[in-house]
Amino acid sequence: MQESNVILQLRHVTKNFGDFIAIRDVNLDIYDGEFLTIVGPSGSGKTTMIRLLVGMDKPTEGDIYLKDVRINDVPANKRPTCMVFQSLALFPHRTVGQNIEFPLKIRGDDSTSRRNRAMELIRLLRLPEDYYDKNVTKCSGGERQRVALARALAFDPEILFFDEPLSSIDFRLRKTLEKELKDIHRRTGKTFVYITHSLEEAMVMSDRIAVLRQGEFIQIGTPDDIYNRPKSRFVSEFMGEVNVFPVEVRKDGRLYCSEVDAVFACPSDEQVEGARGSLVVRPEAIRFLGSGESCESSLKGTVFNEYSLGSRMQYNVQVGNKMITIEKLREQRYEGDFNRSASIGWDVNDSVLLDLTS
Ligand code: ATP
Repeated sequence: MQESNVILQLRHVTKNFGDFIAIRDVNLDIYDGEFLTIVGPSGSGKTTMIRLLVGMDKPTEGDIYLKDVRINDVPANKRPTCMVFQSLALFPHRTVGQNIEFPLKIRGDDSTSRRNRAMELIRLLRLPEDYYDKNVTKCSGGERQRVALARALAFDPEILFFDEPLSSIDFRLRKTLEKELKDIHRRTGKTFVYITHSLEEAMVMSDRIAVLRQGEFIQIGTPDDIYNRPKSRFVSEFMGEVNVFPVEVRKDGRLYCSEVDAVFACPSDEQVEGARGSLVVRPEAIRFLGSGESCESSLKGTVFNEYSLGSRMQYNVQVGNKMITIEKLREQRYEGDFNRSASIGWDVNDSVLLDLTS
């Protein structure tokens, strides 16, 4: 993505509520046509951020630019952007067609062009054409979600903002809709900006993810960057279960972990003797070592238990007082005995050294 393709820009944006700083000196470039997800835990400032982006609120300091035009003072309804709300906010007792056409009616489009546009969107969102006359209350949750999206697209907005639209939908349907939304993004070529507290959801859909913590972006990158190259323990833990070893850099550049009394290979060249940090290893990066098999970073522990996660198996291995989590594909499941000693290990490139302080 190139600098010239930036559609929306935040420059040193701060939002205060009284003495409380909800958004702190944030810079962000959103690229034309990308699917960007802002993700963060409860209270990190996601809603505040999206309200600023949409124009429902003004920044206390800093500037927001849409294609190089400063839009701090342009209200939401005067911006070429559109918000798809969590609550869907469809008109009950109206048909799918009437719902989709509503913004076009307000704009004064004639009935033929309204209907043509509604049918175009019904087809784009893969709803059956006869749904045009169906009452929205008779649509399923997933169908209503698509109608809401069609209504948002009716105006042909430059950017669509999504405020946790899937959070109230059950797990299976949510998984389907996540993929569907990504497909719709591809088909429309529009810029999608999505907020969620679920990094897992963000991973499925996004071109880039911006991780928000206490009003600041602590990492912005592709899903691959965020998953494989987290910049802090917070980001690595936010994605799900990880093994974190508190370590200290030794004179020989290797890492000592007193918690499990073991020495590990160091994945980074830029360490200083005595520096402390967290070595993070994902459960799927750890393997059971066969007899005679060695590994640069290894441990001996007791295989405590196994849990089925469907296609994968999870294991708890106890090393001293620490429980280590391992995940394997079902076909690579652990064949040894439980409550027996086993060797485990990982490749240095599958570990990340984070939050290093001298
Ligand atoms: P959640 O996922 O729980 O919805 P969030 O990430 O969307 O959280 P925000 O709603 O943006 O978080 O709130 C960020 C912080 O700003 C919170 O500490 C909240 O209490 C505070 N805050 C938000 N709106 C206001 C307001 N109008 N007045 C005072 N404080 C506010």
